[in-house]
Amino acid sequence: MNLSTVVRDIVIAGLLILVGTVLNQVLIGGILAVLWCVAIMAIEARRRNKFWTWVSRPLVPPASTLGKYYQPAKSIHTTALERRKRSHTLVNAAQKYKNIANNLPDGLVILDDRMMIKTVNHSATKLLGLTSADCDKPVASLIRHPDAQVLFKSATENLECADIPSPVNSDTRLELRLFRVSDQETMLIARDVSDTSRLLAVRQDFIANVSHELRSPLTVLIGYIESIRSGELDRDTLLDVVQRLDAPAQRMKSLVEDLLTLARLESAPAPELSSLSEIDGESLISTIVEEAQALATQKHRITVNASPSLAVRGIHVELHSAFLNLVTNALRYSPEGGEVTIKWYEHDGMARFSVRDEGVGLAPQHIPRITERFYRVDPTSLRVTGGTGLGLAIVKHVLKRHQASLQVYSKLGQGSTFYCDLPINRVEEEHKENEIS
Ligand code: ADP
Repeated sequence: MNLSTVVRDIVIAGLLILVGTVLNQVLIGGILAVLWCVAIMAIEARRRNKFWTWVSRPLVPPASTLGKYYQPAKSIHTTALERRKRSHTLVNAAQKYKNIANNLPDGLVILDDRMMIKTVNHSATKLLGLTSADCDKPVASLIRHPDAQVLFKSATENLECADIPSPVNSDTRLELRLFRVSDQETMLIARDVSDTSRLLAVRQDFIANVSHELRSPLTVLIGYIESIRSGELDRDTLLDVVQRLDAPAQRMKSLVEDLLTLARLESAPAPELSSLSEIDGESLISTIVEEAQALATQKHRITVNASPSLAVRGIHVELHSAFLNLVTNALRYSPEGGEVTIKWYEHDGMARFSVRDEGVGLAPQHIPRITERFYRVDPTSLRVTGGTGLGLAIVKHVLKRHQASLQVYSKLGQGSTFYCDLPINRVEEEHKENEIS
């Protein structure tokens, strides 16, 4: 109780007695003083009760009628508001980190010191199949792959990582890593490494294929060189052997050239408009036919049906190499005397280049794979055809750079049609129209 209030109340009670005494009414003065004190005590008790009721809800602003309790109630109220603000900030921060964890592309699992699951994020559900219902269960009982088991056992040694198939989808490869956060907590991270694994496999395949392709001509070359070195060959045989060196050497040269072309195409950025030139299909095709005929070892009937003044914009050297590849393939995979038809015409507003042959044709299951590097329907055919196995991979890349794609229509034993549609270069036509109007 405030001292000044007490003094005031005593003074008022004293005054009441004094007035009563002066007026010869001591008893009435005493009664009034007592009544005054009782009233004061009743008001005081009421305020105290109000205060204690209010204390249980300190976030509600206190009423000024609390009297002497008002000031302490106000400071309790201010502290409670600050606490609420601080706890809101903490809750927001926790929610923010939870959202971040849930949006991580990696699976995140927090484990306690006994390797029991404490929390999982969304990606852990997607990649590992763990949900919040798995909390308080041992992680080793839910991810059962042997490599993961080894990792969990080694957790105390802060060890390495494990590469396992996802328990949810066996096509997905996961890299599991454990990080000790504190004595009580360990973090399990699961990262989807399927793309990296696929890339590694593709690279290994590629290296194996290139080595394999180079090994055969190299073995032939080494064989001939050995016999030349023996010094036992007469002049004519020697000349014959030297001539035979040419084929495997040429083969290696073609392979290296195709590999370089492919590497260049794969790493080159999309062609800039300024690097494109107008390409007249008719004259490009006539050059290609001459070259293909010069390269061909067998005789075929070649028919050309090309629309004049149908032009596209592109990189001349690239389209030349792609079209030549398709024409030489048509000759390579057709029997002697077979007809090869080359067409260049407008189709659905595009310039279509097509090559039809009456050759061996392709079974449907091979068609989606023939543009893969080194894919051959008949792996023994290269001795006959002399192809590098990279031709159609080059064609695919060139066409992609020209906003086109390779299409194939083929029937086994009846021949194939390879075609592609390129955007027509209409600049001149528009120009002409403008001139007329
Ligand atoms: P290659 O150098 O072996 O010809 P390509 O990449 O040009 O390599 O072709 C890949 C494979 O596609 C060939 O090995 C062949 O089996 C098949 N192929 C390509 N063109 C034709 C065609 N016109 N007729 C039948 N099969 C073809």
